[in-house]
Order: sequence, then C-alpha cells, then structure tokens
Amino acid sequence: MKGLKTFQRGGIHPKGRKELTNTKKIVKADIPETLIVPFSQHLGAPAEVAVAAGDEVKEGMVIGKPSGFISAAIHSPVDGKIKEIKDIFLANGMKSKAAVIEKSEGFVPVEKKTQDWNNKTPEELTGIIKDSGIVGMGGATFPVNVKVSIPKGEKAEYLIVNGVECEPYLSADHRLMLERTSEIIEGLRILKKIVNPEKVAIGIEINKPDAIEAIRKKAAEEGFELDVIPLKLKYPQGDEKQLIKAVSGREVPSGGLPIAVGCVVINAGTVNAIYEAVVLEKPLYERVVSVSGNGIKNPGNYLTRVGTPVSALIEACGGTNGTPAKIVVGGPMMGFTIYDTETPVAKGTSGILVLTEKEVNAEKRTSCLSCGKCIGVCPMGLNPTKMFKFIDHSDYSGAMDIGLMDCKECGCCAYTCPAHIPLVQGMRLGKKMARKKVS
Ligand code: SF4
Ligand code: SF4
Repeated sequence: MKGLKTFQRGGIHPKGRKELTNTKKIVKADIPETLIVPFSQHLGAPAEVAVAAGDEVKEGMVIGKPSGFISAAIHSPVDGKIKEIKDIFLANGMKSKAAVIEKSEGFVPVEKKTQDWNNKTPEELTGIIKDSGIVGMGGATFPVNVKVSIPKGEKAEYLIVNGVECEPYLSADHRLMLERTSEIIEGLRILKKIVNPEKVAIGIEINKPDAIEAIRKKAAEEGFELDVIPLKLKYPQGDEKQLIKAVSGREVPSGGLPIAVGCVVINAGTVNAIYEAVVLEKPLYERVVSVSGNGIKNPGNYLTRVGTPVSALIEACGGTNGTPAKIVVGGPMMGFTIYDTETPVAKGTSGILVLTEKEVNAEKRTSCLSCGKCIGVCPMGLNPTKMFKFIDHSDYSGAMDIGLMDCKECGCCAYTCPAHIPLVQGMRLGKKMARKKVS
C-alpha cells in the first residue's frame, strides 16, 4: 500500500507466520504447582531478595526490592511458600537468583476491583508504576517509572505507543489491542497525565487492520485524542528508534535516548500493565505470552503467571507435536534458543516458539561471499560483515570503533545472509566481550 509511513534505512520483510495465533482469544494458562521467579527480569540492577526459604507469600506480595535507580520490584505470582532461593540461567544465558515458590493448595487468584485514580498526582502515579514493577514488556524490559520521569530541561512532545509487534509468530499485543481496548485507552490517559505530551500517537502495522479500527473507534468513543498511524510492514519497525523515525520522522542520535528527540515510547502490552497497576492495583506478575510454532499442539495467546517454567506452559498448551527442533523464548528474530525447559516465563517474555525441523530450516554455513546484503538491510547503517570479522579475530575494539554498541541485535543481517553466517550471535558475543574488557 502506497503512502504508508515507515522507517527508511534497511529492514527486511520476513514471513509473518501469525495465523497460528492471531485469531485466538487470550486464554488463561494453568498455574503450575511450582514457579521459578527470577530477581533479574529487567534492564539494570537485579532486585534485592526480600524473602527466604520457608517464608509464606501472597499473590502480589513484594519478594524483591529495586536495588538501584534502574531496577524493578518483583512480586509473588501466587499464594505459596518459598521452597528455596537458587541461581538459575535466564533465557538470554545470564545468571540470576530466583525464588522457587510452591503454590498453596487450592490457590484461587484474587478478583481485582477498579479504583479511581483521577485525583492522584503524576508523581503518585509514577510511584505506583514503580511499586508495581512495571517494565517494558516488548522485550526491552526497561523500568517504566524511569522512562516516564522526564529529566529537567527536557520535554516529551510525543508519547508514542508501540503497537507494531513486527516479530514473526507473535500476536500477544495484537490480541490485547483487540480484547483490552478500553484498558489501553485508560492506560494512555494515565500516561498522558504523567508525561504531559503535546501529542499521543500509536503506530500499528497494516497487517492488524482490526486492531487499527478497534483502537481508533474506542479512542473516538471515549473522546481521547489519539493519532492512530497505520504503518507499512517492515521489520524491525517495533524497535524504538525505527518506530520513532516512522511515526515522527525524528532520528535518535547514536547512544541517545528517545527523549533526546522529544519522544517517549511505550509498548501496547505495557500500557495495559500500567492500567492494571493503577486501576486494579495489580503488580506485574502475569502477562500474555504467544505460544506458537508448528511444534505445539494448541498454539494461542496465554495469560501466564511470571515464573511459569516453559515446560509447564507447553504442557498447558497440550504438549508438543513430536520432538521439537528448537524452542525459542521471544520471537524468531531476536529471541533466544533454550536448552533447559525449566527456564521460566519472565516479564519480558512475549513468546515461546516450539519449532519443527521445517520451520528452523538450518542451512549449512559457508564463507562470506562479500555480497554486501547484510550492509544493505542493517537499519542502524552498520557494516555487519566487517564487525563480524573483527569479532572473529577477537578484535573487539575494532568492532566497537565501527559501531558494535549501536547494533540492536535485530537479526536483519543474519536473516538475509546467503552464507548463513551467525552474524547476530557474533554481535552478541562481541558486545559481551567488549563490556568485559571495559569493566
Ligand atoms: S543485528 Fe545489528 S548489525 Fe545486524 S542488522 Fe541488526 S543492527 Fe545491524
Ligand atoms: S550477507 Fe553474508 S555473505 Fe554477504 S557480505 Fe554479509 S556476511 Fe558476507
């Protein structure tokens, strides 16, 4: 479709593969008997462990306190007892302390009542968001109370809602926009009061016409001024920087934050979580997860308690069709392959993909063909092949000099590479090693 907004530099058009889940209504996943709740589910410092083995906990109780400016609180997803505090590996390979919670027998989640928030000040609302442990749920997991606290001297002209969900297979935000439309508009009213922007806009890719229509209609019905912007299909439009470019035409400088160009970006699922925190007084201990791929018996969008092991969620979805070739936490482009299905669902887990051999389509790696395709698709204007060569020779400074830290790990380069070189894994390793050298 001509005339639709998008970002200009780079990008790819992977197959959407959303049909397995995008027409399925959100359903509650069974809550397992044992949950594993990590204390590091966000960008920044891990939460300080506030419970010990043997402690009784209640649904929504704080079990981890923020331990720095950029940190987030962690809450118990159930009534139960702390069995142990142990070290686990998260989906991204990082180590974290986690509380193993045995759910109480006969646990029934508390029904939440709505609260009037209109008399609360922006500071009080930001405090609720902080106390509720709200982080960016699109995958970035940046603490939202920090994001909405506009530094002195800066002004948020645009509050932009990210309704793009451009990763293949995932449709959790799509379903939320359809099924929790009022809640998202109410969440936006809350955010508007905090951020005080000149404009509020939502960017939604054109493959979700029903969500575009639903949000537009509800905003009009409720008299909420919202610019609903249909976007051309292009990956990685859900990345904050690309979305800002597509919606406002502004370019966030290298190493800069969106507020540097007057923007605050919040993902649609996160707006719903803000509604739940403020209106229902419900901290973030539950989220919608797209469970998809041809390897899962009943793909769909499942309302899942944080701390649910991937194995239990797969079980709740009817199990697998044979032995999966790969299980991915997140989307296929930016997600992480896991080998231990006890890995728990966390606040930033947007999807669990159970993929078959056919879907994985692992082809053999060959030598670089110097075709330059990876350079053409990089939305950050980087030279992935050159950076990879530096990293391959352990020259991390060389890779950093040509922009390694600006790499978003979007996977466009690897997707397009005819030689099947694992470029993203290379970038991830390079960044990890470069950080180690600096610290
Ligand atoms: S993964 Fe990094 S280098 Fe590759 S295309 Fe994305 S931003 Fe560019
Ligand atoms: S796309 Fe692959 S083969 Fe082509 S230049 Fe980049 S790394 Fe080399």
